[in-house]
Amino acid sequence: ALSHHENWQKVWRNPTPKHEGYEVVIVGGGGHGLATAYYLAKEHGITNVAVIEKGYLGGGNTARNTTIVRSNYLWDEAAWLYEHSMKLWEGLAQELNYNLMFSQRGVLNLGHTLQDMRDIERRVNANRLNGIDGEVLNTKQVQELVPILDCSKNARYPVLGASWQPRGGTARHDAVAWGFARAADAMGVHLIQQTEVTGIRRENGAVVGVETNRGLIKARKVACVTAGNSGVMANMVGMKLPLESHPLQAMVSEPVKPILDTVVMSNHVHGYVSQSDKGDLVIGAGIDSYLGYGQRGSFPVVEHTMAAIVEMFPIFSRVRLNRTWGGIVDTCPDACPIISNTPIKGLYFNCGWGTGGFKATPGSGNVFAHTIAHDEPHPLAKPFSIDRFTSGHLIDEHGAAGVAH
Ligand code: FAD
Repeated sequence: ALSHHENWQKVWRNPTPKHEGYEVVIVGGGGHGLATAYYLAKEHGITNVAVIEKGYLGGGNTARNTTIVRSNYLWDEAAWLYEHSMKLWEGLAQELNYNLMFSQRGVLNLGHTLQDMRDIERRVNANRLNGIDGEVLNTKQVQELVPILDCSKNARYPVLGASWQPRGGTARHDAVAWGFARAADAMGVHLIQQTEVTGIRRENGAVVGVETNRGLIKARKVACVTAGNSGVMANMVGMKLPLESHPLQAMVSEPVKPILDTVVMSNHVHGYVSQSDKGDLVIGAGIDSYLGYGQRGSFPVVEHTMAAIVEMFPIFSRVRLNRTWGGIVDTCPDACPIISNTPIKGLYFNCGWGTGGFKATPGSGNVFAHTIAHDEPHPLAKPFSIDRFTSGHLIDEHGAAGVAH
């Protein structure tokens, strides 16, 4: 029945790897890898680039996340990085000429205890000092924004208030990957799918290419953007990254009529929810505490998350859950990413985004492309160098991470 669809114009090419190799090979065709390729070509004129993806473009965490975008992180370094990304999001659909369904519907982070509220006040003040929009709302204001939220005093964890970032919101995850992919391809980047990197070839201490299930692909620079598989990549050159790979789950309900026009997150009860344009309630969990590379998680986490959502929104108690799934998130001890060159010449890593890297997709690619092109960190990426784990300059963003881990 779909045979008449077969002549659709291809959005990007399907090239075979060049025998002579590339200036830069990016391992990982998720949003971050594709954004990196796009900015390498667009801002640094480096188009002799291949993105090598073991599955299909955007099929990793990019396609599995709950699409929340915000920049209200506590510490300057993180706030600047995520705000850089937010500013890129704000013009990205026009720039890529692709409908990213970017919707600045606002993000609420609820407070249920006095300590939650103190942390919220501190974070919002820090955000405002950095020029990032944010407000502290009281219970009444929260109730006005989200009438269906149980703000009564009878709730097990009554809502005492919230932080509110009006410019936060959601975007269409696949579209971001596809938009960057199409634009990168149009500038000459090779997008090579169904090709797994199995080794990193070095000569005289410098990278010379990657080994794949389709043979050696030569490259002067290799940039690994492989999220939950980054530890596996580092292992190929005998490096250990301070990362843990955990399952992180999300779920969607059956579609319902428009009922929730903002994003509601609660760290304390632990669950968060928004409504997609299709009508599904998109619900996110905390990480599964065990380590693993399976893109699925355990049932108790689903159950706990559903209990939290129903506690906050009793009105959702009869809505049916349609699907649950999981991704593999790469969490760092300080809940911040690693954007870094390495002691091996020509080898770079961009990982550790853990539970919160979707919002950073354009910013991450933008600063990483600079780091690769100039062989030195973009000023916004500098604090996120791998050196911080030896210098001690950690940036503890657990409080603002939004997802328990
Ligand atoms: P990915 O999209 O995972 O891309 C990495 C790619 O590398 C994959 O496609 C993989 O196949 C490929 N790869 C790995 N190893 C190899 C190899 N050896 N050879 C070739 N290719 C390889 N973030 C937010 O900001 N907001 C949210 O609401 C949010 N919710 C989330 C909910 C869930 C359930 C999950 C799992 C994550 C969530 N995140 C969220 C985090 C976010 O999804 C990630 O931080 C982000 O998408 C990472 O993008 P990426 O491009 O680095 O990784």
